[in-house]
Amino acid sequence: MTQRTLVTGGAGFLGSHLCQRLLDRGEHVICLDNLFTSRKETIEHMLDLPNFEFVLHDITNPIEMQVDAIYNLACPAAPGHYQHNPIKTIKTNLLGAMHTLGMAKANGAKIFHASTSEVYGDPDVHPQPESYRGNVNPIGLRACYDEGKRVAETLMFDYHRKHGVDIRIARIFNTYGPSMHPFDGRVVSNFIRQALAGEEITIFGDGMQTRSFCYVDDLINGFLAMMDADKATGPINLGNPGEFTMLELANLVLELTGGDSKLVMKPLPADDPTQRQPDITLAKSTLGWQPTIPLNEGLQKTIEWFSNTKLSEWTPPTPNWEGGLVESS
Ligand code: NAD
Ligand code: UDP
Repeated sequence: MTQRTLVTGGAGFLGSHLCQRLLDRGEHVICLDNLFTSRKETIEHMLDLPNFEFVLHDITNPIEMQVDAIYNLACPAAPGHYQHNPIKTIKTNLLGAMHTLGMAKANGAKIFHASTSEVYGDPDVHPQPESYRGNVNPIGLRACYDEGKRVAETLMFDYHRKHGVDIRIARIFNTYGPSMHPFDGRVVSNFIRQALAGEEITIFGDGMQTRSFCYVDDLINGFLAMMDADKATGPINLGNPGEFTMLELANLVLELTGGDSKLVMKPLPADDPTQRQPDITLAKSTLGWQPTIPLNEGLQKTIEWFSNTKLSEWTPPTPNWEGGLVESS
């Protein structure tokens, strides 16, 4: 029988790539989304397929479905999006986990949860292994997301221990690629958009903070490897260990676009982590997974997509989309 797979947040950046891959595998895909940070146009080409369904629903409200597997991705991921309505972000993380776990328990379904490197906060262990418990400011502007994701992990483990639910927790590090929201305010989309338009490149802080960027196809391979494994409760880090400063990233984007934009320094958003790099030893040993697409190659594909996309058709989902908020004193 065809596997019925629910993807919450399925119209979003990662969700839309995942839905496509699941359809390619012959699964019956139910894409649930409230379209907060996404557009139906991203999944338009799937809408008429017999093995694809779109459900407009907010996961903070209960829902029941008969499914065999669940990928819980619903949650705004960009700081400018998740800080717009922080209370809603916490609800999406907590109630979203609760409602999808309820469905997993009722159906005996396997559930994958999209957690994040943000659970490590501003890490003082580098690179970050899964055993590191993090350095999160519980009352900061990023906490709605960081702590929301942490409590969702807790709930996943409590359903696993109490009710035997088969959980798969991935801690995802910064991911980029085609069909990311051009106005999500994240660094890759900002830099590419700015470089292509000949606008100033906005460097937050001194640009010496680091991130590790994973191309979307590599990441989705990791999702599927986790779900296919006999046992992969996790948490397992999924990300590309290549580590770059924001200045290095800006210069690489300029080189690849052939742009000559000036770099301008802007204030650093509140609680912006100074460094981030996944230790993927566990993913390699348990899943045989590691990323294969280097940053310059992935950026080229992403730049090509941005060049061919009509940005006027996209609207920023929130007024403060350009990046994370700066703490007022
Ligand atoms: P995205 O914003 O493009 O996608 C999130 C999707 O969830 C959107 O389609 C949005 O409309 C939907 N959504 C938000 N709140 C909802 C709600 N209450 N009910 C139903 N749908 C809702 O972000 P993304 O980059 O695709 O991220 C997907 C998941 O992966 C998120 O859970 C995010 O926290 C996690 N993640 C992403 C990254 C990354 O670099 N992209 C890194 C770490 C973790
Ligand atoms: N950043 C930047 N310029 C921008 C957008 C972001 O320098 O126009 C920085 C930001 O301060 C952070 C890094 O890039 O240090 C990654 O930001 P992003 O919002 O993409 O992801 P996150 O901070 O959640 O890892």
